[in-house]
Amino acid sequence: MINVAIDGPAGAGKSSISKAVAVKKGYIYVDTGALYRAVAFYALNKGVSPDNTSGIIKLLSELDIKLEHRDGQQRVIANGIDVSDKIRTPEVSMGASGVSAIPEVRTFLFDLQKKIALENNIIMDGRDIGTVVLPNAQLKIFLTADAEERARRRFAELKGTEGVTFENILEDIIKRDENDMNRAVSPLRQAEDAVLVDTTDMTIEQVILHIEKLINETENKER
Ligand code: C5P
Repeated sequence: MINVAIDGPAGAGKSSISKAVAVKKGYIYVDTGALYRAVAFYALNKGVSPDNTSGIIKLLSELDIKLEHRDGQQRVIANGIDVSDKIRTPEVSMGASGVSAIPEVRTFLFDLQKKIALENNIIMDGRDIGTVVLPNAQLKIFLTADAEERARRRFAELKGTEGVTFENILEDIIKRDENDMNRAVSPLRQAEDAVLVDTTDMTIEQVILHIEKLINETENKER
């Protein structure tokens, strides 16, 4: 199985790029951020704050998370309910960043990620995929861009959504990067053997072609 690990900060384009490359290559795209989001969403619904460590740990024993892939789309199922569309709010983003600092949450989600990678050709994106989840991935990419550029892209996506301003988005991105890079367990960092792709001055199409080329080279090496 070929495993491609894509890590990087919030808003670097990991998910749209990974999704597009996965379709072109016939790989399964695994969005691990959705798992942390599902935990945060469940906690917020139960009125448990994402920074209430003991409260979150207690919730894990009653929570069952599954990933399903249908027509090239990943769906996240929490206790039998498809939450895929509900986990994209700014509140859940920040909540995911909170719960992801709890070691028990990371352990809880680890096997799920590992199992999919053993059974399929996958492109998995997240923060610790190349460093912790799939240290033996045949290809590791660290995808990044300037914070301002990442905020501009996110803003363009969310434009028209009530209450969303460029300044809020930039602030959230900087805060999440800080949380993700400075937590004690599995912080966001570039794996030593990862290829750095800085997309600040690249179009999405250029990034997709570049990553596709890297995967083709990896496949040729593996043959
Ligand atoms: O990638 P996405 O923005 O959906 O991730 C939401 C949050 O989940 C991130 O800010 C990060 O804190 C956490 N996360 C993580 N490890 C991963 C994927 C996401 O800690 N592999």
